[in-house]
Amino acid sequence: MHAWSAPTIPSVPGTPPPLRIFDSSTRGLAAPATDGRASLYVCGITPYDATHMGHAATYVAFDLLHRFWLDAGLEVDYVQNVTDVDDPLLERATATGVDWRDLAAGQTDLFRGDMEALNTIPPRHYVGAVESVPWIVPVVEQLLESGQAYRVPGTGGEPDGDVYFDSDAAASPTWSLGSVSGYDRETMAGFFAERGGDPDRPGKRNTLDPLLWRVRRDGEPSWDGGLLGEGRPGWHIECSVIARRFLPAPFTVQGGGSDLIFPHHEFSAGHATASDGKPLAEHYVHTGMVGLDGEKMSKSLGNLVLVSKLRGAGEDPMAVRAVLVGQHYRTDWEWTPALLEQAKTRLAAWRRRATTTTVERAAELATALRPRLADDLDSPAALLALDAWAAETAEASGRDDTGAGSDGEAAAHAVIDALLGIRLAPTA
Ligand code: ZN
Repeated sequence: MHAWSAPTIPSVPGTPPPLRIFDSSTRGLAAPATDGRASLYVCGITPYDATHMGHAATYVAFDLLHRFWLDAGLEVDYVQNVTDVDDPLLERATATGVDWRDLAAGQTDLFRGDMEALNTIPPRHYVGAVESVPWIVPVVEQLLESGQAYRVPGTGGEPDGDVYFDSDAAASPTWSLGSVSGYDRETMAGFFAERGGDPDRPGKRNTLDPLLWRVRRDGEPSWDGGLLGEGRPGWHIECSVIARRFLPAPFTVQGGGSDLIFPHHEFSAGHATASDGKPLAEHYVHTGMVGLDGEKMSKSLGNLVLVSKLRGAGEDPMAVRAVLVGQHYRTDWEWTPALLEQAKTRLAAWRRRATTTTVERAAELATALRPRLADDLDSPAALLALDAWAAETAEASGRDDTGAGSDGEAAAHAVIDALLGIRLAPTA
């Protein structure tokens, strides 16, 4: 599947200090080992109700990580999926009388447009669930053969043969239930039921075991599943297989919203280790939830602020991005129209200051921003440093900015774009 157009990333002289980033699986700061390359997998959207501000915050946060690594001179392998077939998508298609394929294609297009407008670097591999089915089938077959998966008999109107992951049989020194999330059994049980799991399905060995393969039901799309029979894959195995097809094992960072810690990232990692004995990722990084009027912004609650709606209303996507960059990625926060207004004021001040700066002062700006970003991607602190730079006019600082001109302005734009993804120059 194609992603979206890649922006040109300016290069800025100098290098950042080493990155420290919060790893949710160890609940501490980690210093990812990179050795010239870094690899990133960020879970993509299920394409309906795209792109709400919670999505946008997540992809912009990992875009900051991507940009940090590029600024450090690394080669970055970035993969993102799109879950273009899954229960919620099919339910929405049925409810609205739209073919599920048309719904997925239209919403994925909208997402691409929003990502491009927000100046996010596209993944090298943008991969759909549907196109990955032929890679998933042999992995599930092998899990069945090795006794780390099992078939559940049909009861209560369900057909025979759905395949589940045997969490207990798959436990190893590398992965066991709870090793990625760090959650206790009770917490996992709560999230499992809340986030699409089926703890009460009769015939499961462990109530937390997740679905690997759903055999064909009438009226649902299905694909050839080899020995599994016709059907479609579960969500965790989708990401697990896509990530390992395009990235090293383990890859550097698995990313997503904090609501993916369990069960999604727990089991994506479990499936990977059960298949090849290796950990899925070295580090797990999660973004906070975005709220609106005191509630988490979510598709199920329907309280969504959509990037495309704001764009349609003529809002500057760089102001939207500035709102997002102004929040720390790990913090839960609330979208308000006032934040967008503040961001516009800040953007205007940065743009003004850029016209009177010198190449040297732009280089100092990079030196001010980099340590903030290296410190667990502290982008709010980086924006405060940017504000301080913007407020410090030549007269106030007593500095000689007589060399100011288009070179200085271009250099300042380059720093702010390369490190923060905020483009100050009007787009051609
Ligand atoms: Zn995923």
